[in-house]
Amino acid sequence: MTPPVIDMSCCVLCEICVDLAPHAFKINDAGYVDVLSLDDYSDEDIYEAVKNCPRHCITFE
Ligand code: SF4
Repeated sequence: MTPPVIDMSCCVLCEICVDLAPHAFKINDAGYVDVLSLDDYSDEDIYEAVKNCPRHCITFE
């Protein structure tokens, strides 16, 4: 499965995705959300992060 993609133009840095799936999302030094490198992006925590992003900025291409 390909990594989720974050549309930074709509992200409001609420950090909900980081709270829900800290193994997959992190705030980088520049203050933006990074998607971390994983072998598999199909777990429930990532799905919850995608679903709960208040701006729906996280998608799977
Ligand atoms: S949940 Fe959405 S709006 Fe909030 S930090 Fe993550 S990508 Fe940005």
